Amino acid sequence: MDIKANLNTILKSIPKEVTLVAVSKTRQNSAIIEAYQQGQRIFGENKVQELVQKFEELPKDINWHMIGHLQTNKVKFIAPFVSLIHGVDSIKLLKEINKRAKQNNRVIDCLLQVHIATESTKFGFDISEVNEAVNTANEYQNIRIVGLMGMATFTDNKQQVIQEFSSLKTVFDTVKNEHITTLSMGMSGDYQLAIEQGSSMVRVGSAIFGHRN
Ligand SMILES: *Cc1c(COP(=O)(O)O)cnc(C)c1O
Repeated sequence: MDIKANLNTILKSIPKEVTLVAVSKTRQNSAIIEAYQQGQRIFGENKVQELVQKFEELPKDINWHMIGHLQTNKVKFIAPFVSLIHGVDSIKLLKEINKRAKQNNRVIDCLLQVHIATESTKFGFDISEVNEAVNTANEYQNIRIVGLMGMATFTDNKQQVIQEFSSLKTVFDTVKNEHITTLSMGMSGDYQLAIEQGSSMVRVGSAIFGHRN
């Protein structure tokens, strides 16, 4: 895998305003360092234990994003350092993040995960619940909702993926303001489609680091 070449190809193909999260789950530190040496500073992980371990072992100027499903009982382990939590999918989780952020004297940036896929296995608020969740989150002092995140259905049906991203963009437009500016959608297989539909942050793993086992 030529991580350096892959990274540069992707960076060249996405607009400057779109932020690239290099999804490094399951990867060795040496692979992450290769991307780091190219200037990449934002990495995404989906497991708390792996995230904590990599935070401890790798350079301290990396911004670590939690992109996976987060259990409330594990928030405390990442609260001291995590820079963005993508998958906030319940009020209970918001409350816990707020509590742990406060204990660490931090304000933690969060994205509300919105359920846009037809698959029932993907987590998130329903589109109809987003407004109320944003309002509730505003009452918590130690979290800042900075945007929304969503995952499209895993399918070859391009039109369906476009339609799902587009519905997320529509909700995003109804809640966006000076703080809510991030729309995290798009992975290796669909990030171009996501950007066409208005994504401002893409989470790309295998297109940079190769296939995962
Ligand atoms: C693994 C993962 C990605 C990256 O997937 P690739 O297909 O490897 O780009 C993006 N987002 C989430 C939430 C993930 O769990």
